[in-house]
Amino acid sequence: MAIALVTGASRGIGAATALALSARGWTVHVNYLKSADRARAVAEKTGGLAVQADVSDFKQVEAMFQKIGPVELLVNNAGIAHGGLLTDLSGEDWQRLFDVNITGVFNCCRCAIPHMVHEKRGQIISLASILGVAGGSCEVAYSATKGAVIAYTKALAKELGPSGIRVNCVAPGCIDTDMTANLTKEDFDRLADDTAMCRIGRPEDVADVIALLADPGARFVTGQVIGIDGGLVI
Ligand code: NAP
Repeated sequence: MAIALVTGASRGIGAATALALSARGWTVHVNYLKSADRARAVAEKTGGLAVQADVSDFKQVEAMFQKIGPVELLVNNAGIAHGGLLTDLSGEDWQRLFDVNITGVFNCCRCAIPHMVHEKRGQIISLASILGVAGGSCEVAYSATKGAVIAYTKALAKELGPSGIRVNCVAPGCIDTDMTANLTKEDFDRLADDTAMCRIGRPEDVADVIALLADPGARFVTGQVIGIDGGLVI
């Protein structure tokens, strides 16, 4: 059975993605940072291990891959956000955003790619954001990390295509998870109004597209940024 790892899969989009992949026959390992019980509950359903690792720390990521072994699909989902004016952002907060959101992607890829190249098959799907495409006021640093994920995806797709490995990313709009729990009802209503589909997204809206991308039917899709935003940015 094909083996996948979803980082940050204890809750939100990552948990929904692990379940969607499992429903399509994948055995899915569930990475988490703090939410051990929630990660175990997801892993029980997906047939994989719940594995703790801070994706920003290469040694922890290496140890995680030693536990789970090689994977055919890596979903780089773990991420953090930080709202506020750029001029109020501390250097530490700026660094942490980059450490988790893009260095975390690099760390996991470093461990996953050698086996994929050896097998001449594999897939990497990373979570960018519509803010990485269009930019967002009061989310400058976060937008920059997600823009980096997009450029990284395009470059890596060119590098790994000859080895039969597909590399894509998805760019969700506003999705109802803990990450957006700080938004007010007025914020949600405004965002829904600005969206062609007239609603905020659900984790499953993103998870189902990731699962489709992972399907063999998407075998000729690589280097793409797939918007999943209900038409927020067209
Ligand atoms: P979320 O509900 O806040 O969940 C974040 C997940 O990431 C949790 O499982 C958390 O683990 C894990 N995590 C955080 N830091 C980690 C680290 N250093 N190492 C390992 N795991 C870590 O977030 P979400 O809304 O589902 O977002 C998932 C991804 O989608 C992120 O990359 C985010 O930037 C992206 N995205 C979200 C939205 C949105 O509107 N929600 C829109 C566009 C893109 P613990 O539970 O153990 O803390």
